[in-house]
Amino acid sequence: MNEKILVVEDEKEIAALIRDYLTASNYKVIIASDGEEGLNLFHEEKPQLAILDIMLPKKDGFEICRTIRSKSNIPILILSAKKEDTDKIIGLGLGADDYITKPFSPRELIARVQSQLRRFTELSHTQDKDEVISHNGLVIDATAYTVTLNGTVIPFSVKEFEILLYLASNANQALSREKIFDEIWGYNEFGDINTVTVHIRKIREKIESDPANPKFIETVWGIGYKFKGEK
Ligand code: CA
Repeated sequence: MNEKILVVEDEKEIAALIRDYLTASNYKVIIASDGEEGLNLFHEEKPQLAILDIMLPKKDGFEICRTIRSKSNIPILILSAKKEDTDKIIGLGLGADDYITKPFSPRELIARVQSQLRRFTELSHTQDKDEVISHNGLVIDATAYTVTLNGTVIPFSVKEFEILLYLASNANQALSREKIFDEIWGYNEFGDINTVTVHIRKIREKIESDPANPKFIETVWGIGYKFKGEK
């Protein structure tokens, strides 16, 4: 499909390496060497996926991630130099979909890119579940891939959307954090059970008027979460 991938990386050798491998896998690649150029290219070129370094001139990867996520649901992959950066990204809940720690193998990078694009494409073009789940002003459209609350579209990352859709599709069932993790991340992906907790918190901040007293996603103590649907 020759998806277009935006790479924002100021280290020229790494950028060239990523470009060569992605190009060899038939992706179109556009490269920005600083944060401002990165956001400009995002707006002009409308890529299907973004790979962001963290430490960048002008605007850092965190800021680019936040800006892209406020406007688009495309998969965002973060390149981090340190494990601590990864913890920070998850803690900040910026809406990135995956993380790769430098140094990484090109094969690993390609595998992550393919996996993210496949999930995104499947979500965007799901044919067999053209369902719209509507409850209490919250509308989850699995075909249009949007979440609307009282008529306003709420920006969701791919993972956040998948989690909400999974919970809402299994309304009134208590789902354990482990089950949610396996369903959304699979067994081989980065992260741990706490990632689920962080994502749920972000989702609640977006859809709950009082996250401490949620009306959509209930905590089931000792187990996990339950989406409160109409019975
Ligand atoms: Ca850098």
